[in-house]
Amino acid sequence: MAFTYACSDYPGMAPCLGRFTAETEVELWEHIELHALVAHGEDPHRVVGR
Ligand SMILES: [Zn+2]
Repeated sequence: MAFTYACSDYPGMAPCLGRFTAETEVELWEHIELHALVAHGEDPHRVVGR
């Protein structure tokens, strides 16, 4: 079962079409962290999601 994440799932996030799917939660978080750095210029997801 794949893990999925979408920025739009989190209220308070700036509107974002970021959406990721990975085989493991660890891999998924690597995608999220990279996306946060590239698309948001920081990593708010770490605070929100964990
Ligand atoms: Zn995003």
